[in-house]
Amino acid sequence: MNPDLKKLLDIQQYDKEIASLEAELKRLESKEDKIVEVVETKKVQIADAREEIEEVKKDIEEKENLLEETIENLKKLEIKLSGVSTEKQMQAVNTEIDIAKTNKTVLEEKLETLKEELSLKEKGLKELEDRYEQLLKTLDEYRNKFDKRREEINEKIKEINKTKEELLPTIDKKVFKKYERINRWAKGTAIVPVRQEACYGCFMKLTPQVLALLEETDEIVYCPNCGRMLYLEEIELDED
Ligand SMILES: [Zn+2]
Repeated sequence: MNPDLKKLLDIQQYDKEIASLEAELKRLESKEDKIVEVVETKKVQIADAREEIEEVKKDIEEKENLLEETIENLKKLEIKLSGVSTEKQMQAVNTEIDIAKTNKTVLEEKLETLKEELSLKEKGLKELEDRYEQLLKTLDEYRNKFDKRREEINEKIKEINKTKEELLPTIDKKVFKKYERINRWAKGTAIVPVRQEACYGCFMKLTPQVLALLEETDEIVYCPNCGRMLYLEEIELDED
């Protein structure tokens, strides 16, 4: 195999490793983003729940004031009733008393419902707050773990880049430029093996001439269809 091609294969392997490490970093970041998103959502939900609770409390206060007024009114009406002299007046006051009593019942029922609602909402808020605390803990733990892994990954990438940079000056510049140009679109498959007489990049069958060239020459052979650099795997196996 062409010695430059052999080195380029190593470079390609390094590039692949770097790409996979960078992909892992991206995955880890997007997972962190997702947790942050859930935390933010919980925060908004907690604020909403608190606002709703305040509204229910206000409603309860209003209804309690009304109930108090109604009870006061009822007392006054009963005093009034004891002072009436005619049947007609008595009927009128009794009607007022009936209305006030109905109002009182309605208010009491409404208050009961509101208090139940309040207790449910407070319970819900407590659950949200607990979940929020838990999420913050999860996020913290995740960030600690992530920071450690990120450091490892960056260290590894640095190491690979160093090895790569040591190897680069030993490769023919023109050949390397060509590799880079192919790699721009081939993304990690600029150099491919020949398998079952086909280019393992575009999977087109290679002509006997190209195959013969691969067997006989030390020059770099390109796939006539896609332009990738080709190599015979058997040769590499023999050399291993
Ligand atoms: Zn091809």
